Amino acid sequence: MLPLAVKQRLQKEILNWNDTGMAAYELPHRGELFQTIANTSVQNVRDLLKVPDNYHVLFLHGGAQSQFSMVPLNLIGDRKKVAYVDTGQWSRIAAKEAERYASLHWAASAKANDYTDIPDVADWDVPQDAAYLHYVDNETIDGLEFSNIPQVDDLPLVCDMSSNIFSRAFDVSRFGLIYACAQKNLGCAGLTLVIIRDDLLNRQKAHPLTPKLFNYRLHVDAQSVLNTPSTMTWYICSLVLQWLKEEGGLKTMEARSQKKSELLYTAIDSSALYVNCVKPQFRSRMNVVFNLKDESLTQTFLDQAAAAGLMHLKGHKLRGGIRASIYNSMPVEGVNRLIAFMSDFEAQH
Ligand code: PMP
Repeated sequence: MLPLAVKQRLQKEILNWNDTGMAAYELPHRGELFQTIANTSVQNVRDLLKVPDNYHVLFLHGGAQSQFSMVPLNLIGDRKKVAYVDTGQWSRIAAKEAERYASLHWAASAKANDYTDIPDVADWDVPQDAAYLHYVDNETIDGLEFSNIPQVDDLPLVCDMSSNIFSRAFDVSRFGLIYACAQKNLGCAGLTLVIIRDDLLNRQKAHPLTPKLFNYRLHVDAQSVLNTPSTMTWYICSLVLQWLKEEGGLKTMEARSQKKSELLYTAIDSSALYVNCVKPQFRSRMNVVFNLKDESLTQTFLDQAAAAGLMHLKGHKLRGGIRASIYNSMPVEGVNRLIAFMSDFEAQH
């Protein structure tokens, strides 16, 4: 969902943005007016995340999965190996794509613990000759989230923050590259945020077969307007970034997501019907994934929840069970309504 305030602003501006008589997405993308939206968005990302000057902020197309290809194509250079950490479905999908271009090395895997725990970084096997180390900060399908940035020396750290970016403050300077699709905490689908450290662009050339639109250097030089950008989604994202600032920035988002997820996990842990097996330290604050101990009640749960106005609670098809995605724009009232429903459902069954 988008924040209600953003939707209301969108509704207000849809026919007439800034007294131009046009919608923001009707503006010429290289014109001064759209460039104001673009430049303000870049600055707001820099302000909110405290992005150091030696990083570029890009707004690209193609969703997070485009980055599964762009990262290896641009960063492998003359190295032959890439290192990935397996904490869930998205880690594996990302690694599978990278494996088309280089030899894949798994630095660590949560598989042995059935994706309920993340192995201690001290036990990771990180080859120093790899081009980079990739991990997924929040596994959207599995409901597993890193509590800290892993400390790895020498190797550029690449992170998929698609489903938890802007939900807490973190140190951008620890990363070589960060990417996130927009449809969770940044707006709606069709836009991808990339933050890349300058030296990675100069370190080596992209793979010779890298499509023009998959080349970071070209996007940086063109300031994300290499071809026609996704102006509507960029504009919506600019409104979300402004909302984030107005709400108090990442401190507020962190406190809210902590509170919302704690309420929900406490309700699960204190019930006899619901179960979440993820080690508390790694429980996702964004995607609360749980099962009904009596699995045969899952569909009834979903049907009755939908009838009560609690939508889209079905777990991902690869994982099953229930998943409550409680991104930044989900108000605490939404979580409280779900908890009340869960309690009634349990009493009934
Ligand atoms: N990575 C993560 C962590 C995700 O949650 C998703 C989408 N749910 C993706 C990658 C893929 O994003 P897209 O569909 O925008 O390619």
